[in-house]
Amino acid sequence: MASLAWSARQTDTASIARETHLLSLAFTDLPAKIAQDEESLAISDDMVRALNAGYVGWVDSRVSSWMRGYINLDATFILSPEGEPVYANIDEKVAPPATFEAVRQAATPLEQKLRAAMASTEAPQVTPPLRTVGEYDFAVIDGRPAIVSVKPFITDDAAGSGRLLHAFMLVGVGYLDDRFLERMAERYELAGLSFSSAPMESDEVASLVLKNARGDALGHFHWNPTMPGATQYRMQRPVLLTLVLIGNALVFFGMCAWGRLRRKHFQKEQRLLAAATHDELTGLLNRTGINRVIDTRLAETLGSGFSFALVTIDLDRFKQVNDLLGHAAGDDLIRNYAARLQGLIRSGDSLARIGANSFLICLASARRPQDAEQFCERVLAATRKPFRIDEREIFATASAGFVMAPLHGTDRDELAHRGETALLQAKSEGRDRYCGFSNSMDRRARERSQLEADLRIALASPGQISVLYQPVYKALSGEIAGAEALARWTHPQRGAISPELFIPIAEETGLIHELGEFVLLEACRAARRWPGKVIAVNASAAEIRCPSYAQRVLATLAMTGLEPQQLEIEITETALFDETGQCQKTVEALREAGIHVALDDFGTGFSSLGHLQKFKVDRIKIDRRFIFGVDRPTNDQAIVEAIVRLAQTTNLKTTAEGVETEQQADYLRGIGCTDLQGYLLGRPISGPEVELLVALEHGHDSLDRRAPDTGAA
Ligand code: C2E
Ligand code: CA
Ligand code: CA
Repeated sequence: MASLAWSARQTDTASIARETHLLSLAFTDLPAKIAQDEESLAISDDMVRALNAGYVGWVDSRVSSWMRGYINLDATFILSPEGEPVYANIDEKVAPPATFEAVRQAATPLEQKLRAAMASTEAPQVTPPLRTVGEYDFAVIDGRPAIVSVKPFITDDAAGSGRLLHAFMLVGVGYLDDRFLERMAERYELAGLSFSSAPMESDEVASLVLKNARGDALGHFHWNPTMPGATQYRMQRPVLLTLVLIGNALVFFGMCAWGRLRRKHFQKEQRLLAAATHDELTGLLNRTGINRVIDTRLAETLGSGFSFALVTIDLDRFKQVNDLLGHAAGDDLIRNYAARLQGLIRSGDSLARIGANSFLICLASARRPQDAEQFCERVLAATRKPFRIDEREIFATASAGFVMAPLHGTDRDELAHRGETALLQAKSEGRDRYCGFSNSMDRRARERSQLEADLRIALASPGQISVLYQPVYKALSGEIAGAEALARWTHPQRGAISPELFIPIAEETGLIHELGEFVLLEACRAARRWPGKVIAVNASAAEIRCPSYAQRVLATLAMTGLEPQQLEIEITETALFDETGQCQKTVEALREAGIHVALDDFGTGFSSLGHLQKFKVDRIKIDRRFIFGVDRPTNDQAIVEAIVRLAQTTNLKTTAEGVETEQQADYLRGIGCTDLQGYLLGRPISGPEVELLVALEHGHDSLDRRAPDTGAA
């Protein structure tokens, strides 16, 4: 009897420890889950634009539908770059921004820490599958235990670098009582789970302390632990006493019953463990689950030397499906997709869902990179087959990245990070493709973040950034029409850095606004010295979409005294894809002020010639890719001729870019292109050099008029 009692106590202690462990696991997983939910709202070009433009209605519709879809948060606040609340949503309803006051004390330190991290020149630490930096902590808000999580609003492209100075911030609050406790109680089968600020001293009650990052105890979760030992002992004692009397044979039966009860308890433990390591929606492993698999594989690999692959797969543009068709359809798609993936793996491989639309596969069957490549190809092909959701056909694509272990690392986190790098590479190459990790990617990523830091410094120090001007000539008369301002960066150690490299970095980090303003000011100043000639200045999509852009251009004109007619702003087709309509407003405001607008790199984007009907511009610049082929038998002639003809009928001017040969120039003049630009006619030169050219041209004019026969230089 004594040994039975002892054994019962042992069983109970183990059971309580197990329940406590499961509950604490839920708290360990929660911050990353919430952060990932938040990213699905906060990493969005549209949101960044809408917030900057102050489109509250639009922001609200996005936040509301997002809050309905993600159950972990009860309240959401948006803070301006200055840290003031501009929007609040509590229980899926808009609330006055002032409701943030209740959360301020908990949220502001996190916000400030995050801003400091984002301003630092060191690359921020982000653990995949998360894509951006963030901060969270547990706190007590209005007497309720809560998790507070802060994330920056950031564009898709900039998410990787995470460096941003003036970000809007998303503050999410999830309360850890009521609904949350219900969910936990159900998931982990914890009876009477509750929260109280004071500890409860009782043998009958198990508890877990909630602490914040500083280690202060915020309160206690209590529940009535499952005590299989005590229950069974209580049930068994009278029976056993009788049994002892009846005889040893019957004791044997009693022990069998004991064993059955223990087995039942064991099954419950198995169920609970499964809940902690599996994804609710798909039943696949979750991150905790796959991490265990990977750890085991890694340990085996170190012994056996056998390689395996880790493949990360993202279903592209999943957010759009969610936004367009609702979360139920999104869930359906994920379940369908999970089943497809399941059909592609072999025994020994493990598949996990590690994020809303991300899956991780531990591909034990891939011994060589070629095996992983073939697998990725099968995945991409399987993704392209249409999905039937809600009576509709949905077409999807995926991006995949893989790493080989132990080739690319023997540490789980390192492998995950490198897998993410490979995935990002696949995405940046245009999605619907895969990429294997290579060491050069790491180097490239490091180099790039170094360049980001250097560009920030360059913009603050005089002399590193300068502007050159490439002359543009009238096609027929050969007269100088004007010049295009092109930014140049002379790095103190690395020398000249191509704009093809640093402009995208400036765009992703938001530095483009500063850079653009500098180029514009320099260009307007320079152009004052060549009256009658046009100065063309490039503007990135981010600049055009900024509501204050047109105003700033006008202010620069006023400051430098340049005539609006002398200025031409070059925008690209991609800038035109803008649901907020801000781009169109900017273009209209510029043109109303008398400034000309040119559509740059025409023909390379998605837009058709039809697009021009909607967007009134003054000039089309035909991309040099098409000019390259016009003196050879290619389709390019047909394209260029169509563009020029269309421009003529709508009274637009056309500039051919990248003219390098006489044949090209002759052909372009022949079809009626109005202006020419390219190395044949002139490379980018300094402002004073342009001034000289213009002066010489005037000189020519007067010489020509005086002595038409000599043609003197
Ligand atoms: P873009 O606007 O298409 O500028 C023309 C580019 O073509 C310039 O390259 C110019 O040097 C180059 N180019 C001109 N003639 C020829 C030719 O005959 N053959 C060839 N192969 N190339 C020629 P660059 O200066 O390297 O600028 C690259 C791009 O960087 C620009 O393309 C523009 O998109 C961007 N960029 C440059 N400066 C700025 C700026 O101040 N702001 C913004 N937003 N973007 C800029
Ligand atoms: Ca241009
Ligand atoms: Ca161009």
